[in-house]
Amino acid sequence: MRAPRPAPTWLRPDPGVQSAAMAIYLDHAATTPLRPDVLDAMLPYLTGEFGNPSSAHGFGRRARAALDEAHQRVAARIGGEAREIVFTSGGTEALNLGLKGAAWAGKARGHRIVTSAVEHHAVGHTLRHLEKFGFEIIELPVDRYGRVDPDAVESAITDKTILVSIMLANNEVGTIQPIAEIARRVHSHRGVLFAVDAVQAAPHLDLDVEALDVDLLALSAHKFEGPKGVGALYLRHGTHLVVQQQGGTQERHRRGGTENVAGAVGMATAYELACAERPETGKRLRRLRERLQKAILAVDGTELTGHPRERLPNHLSLIARDTDGNALTMSLDLAGIAASVGSACTTGSTEVSHVLTAMGYPDEEARGALRLSLGRTTTEAEIEEACVTVPRVVALMRTGHVAVAADPLGQEALA
Ligand code: PLP
Repeated sequence: MRAPRPAPTWLRPDPGVQSAAMAIYLDHAATTPLRPDVLDAMLPYLTGEFGNPSSAHGFGRRARAALDEAHQRVAARIGGEAREIVFTSGGTEALNLGLKGAAWAGKARGHRIVTSAVEHHAVGHTLRHLEKFGFEIIELPVDRYGRVDPDAVESAITDKTILVSIMLANNEVGTIQPIAEIARRVHSHRGVLFAVDAVQAAPHLDLDVEALDVDLLALSAHKFEGPKGVGALYLRHGTHLVVQQQGGTQERHRRGGTENVAGAVGMATAYELACAERPETGKRLRRLRERLQKAILAVDGTELTGHPRERLPNHLSLIARDTDGNALTMSLDLAGIAASVGSACTTGSTEVSHVLTAMGYPDEEARGALRLSLGRTTTEAEIEEACVTVPRVVALMRTGHVAVAADPLGQEALA
């Protein structure tokens, strides 16, 4: 057997493992690390204060108080009321509950639902599911930057429309939609509800349900250093919803099941911290992102995807022509940089991104997608290193000098 060629120094592979030991984590759009202060806030509810909030005794009452307070704390940060928050198992469930619940509640009035072509699958697939039950789903196109035209939303609304669902910020390309403007158009039609997926936006944009004028809004804790598997649906008081999970009377009869008290406390704590630090964090991340963007876009054949200005401050997405995004992220992983092709949910699949397709990129270009997303814990030193490593790996992939796809362990990688 041929002896493996020594890996180039910049690859730093772990023995027998595909990724570097202490990689620089630039995939905060996929998930973020749990913040130590958040863990501290959660721990009592995973240990001594383990009561069921529905129990009448002291253990239960203390858990209930923490849960009630968590509703209040999240609501206060988005300009809502405690009773308008339903804690869920994450963003996906919040969107399933909100969209299916509102669709079924509105079925007697109409069956038409308007959305965009660039939604996360938690919205897109949920609406596709509703289509099987007779709902009509209108998917609006987007421009080259992934933006929805508010006029197109207005034109799509008929007297049969019951719901419009548009995301605030895109998970793959970071583009921010003109949500307040879209809301104005939606609400000029009586009885049409407006749902917003704010999962990616929540850590970075100030959310005020009154200013945005939304009826339903989805959040997910693990995008802002909270625990995974916890989210919330904001549901404007008076909005009818057909419950999707039967059982007990928890969450004001809107979601049966014993509540995740520690998760709710963790989410509230993480969100408060994220909101308090947002101006400072946003400024720093934008500066670091711009530095990284400049370094990578200096490589021939690369192009920024998404809106150049109306985008999340931490988010950098691009296309490296004549490369394969999956192979590129594997090469980066071996080089000590954790990035992704776009959406964590489609990583490793051969499907090209529906977002880039909707933005007009042909398949062969969309295949070279790369997403780097920074977070509060990203350091200057990490970006300094990424500014050297990422352009080098991208350039090598473009010239065909790295062949990780055929050699996942990187043992045959050529420098
Ligand atoms: N919506 C968007 C825009 C997302 O990016 C994600 C997750 O990546 C979700 C919804 C789903 O959230 P969760 O992972 O909490 O189910």
